[in-house]
Amino acid sequence: MFVYGPFQHWAFGLCIGLNVIGDKRICPLDCIYCPYPVTRADCSPNLNEIIKELENSYDKFSTLTKSLLISGHGDPLLCDRLSFMLNYIRDIFSLKVILRTTYISICTLHIPKDILSSVDRIIVKLDAITPETITSINKPSVKLSPDVIKSSMITLSQEIPIFIEVNIIRTSSNKLNSDSTELRKLIETIIDIAPDGVLLQSFPGFSNAQKLAIGELIEIGRIFADYLGWHRVKIRGFSPLSTINLSLDEGKNAIISTLDNFPLTREEMASILSYNNVEEVIRDILRIPNVVVLNGYFMKKR
Ligand code: SF4
Repeated sequence: MFVYGPFQHWAFGLCIGLNVIGDKRICPLDCIYCPYPVTRADCSPNLNEIIKELENSYDKFSTLTKSLLISGHGDPLLCDRLSFMLNYIRDIFSLKVILRTTYISICTLHIPKDILSSVDRIIVKLDAITPETITSINKPSVKLSPDVIKSSMITLSQEIPIFIEVNIIRTSSNKLNSDSTELRKLIETIIDIAPDGVLLQSFPGFSNAQKLAIGELIEIGRIFADYLGWHRVKIRGFSPLSTINLSLDEGKNAIISTLDNFPLTREEMASILSYNNVEEVIRDILRIPNVVVLNGYFMKKR
């Protein structure tokens, strides 16, 4: 399945999800916390299938949400047919399109104008700024200098609203991007870029890294807020979630399809279910082979 959800995105609220890549991961990064296995497959999604699934999801859920998040199993900008797909989506559906990509694609690809004009917002993953820390966390396919990263993001932000997503983690032997020197440099860079939003989370995935406490994330968020304002800072686990009540079956299906593409917290799952259904759905989900809960995130082991 290419279309998933609807699910509660911690920064953008209720979204329909679209994975344009398919089952195998295609990404210029190899993050230590990535829940998807490495692959070198080409991106050749079945367009007819995607359109059919989108029409189905739009018919059912467009009264609840008009947001479509393109994210899952890698970097959608590496998909050859993205431009065609986005034009189609723009012509047929009335959806606000949010595309999640990586800083590498922003710096190394020439993003066609028709992609930029078909997308409303871009989320850019950027966990660190010094080459050493980027290598430790993201294992990028291309090494880029902090200046190139910063100037590419500033250029993009002049064309389209950008939201920088940062995952902050540490290990006992290595502080990764929670190290104070790294964090200061990253914060300074992001403040210079002045994005439309900063999205902070702490997601160790299947790695042996540790999650930061919510209080630590809030402290980091406070520094961003001093410069950018709280309205531009979202913190996973702290920023409030809206609630909707999907029926038991619809809610369960929405969550199961999302877990293939997007790890969720208990609160994010509960926010689309009626209070009475939460425990039952979570019990059923934990019976699905390969679903695990690690550090408070429900995700699928591959
Ligand atoms: S950017 Fe996302 S898909 Fe790519 S390696 Fe990192 S976690 Fe995995």
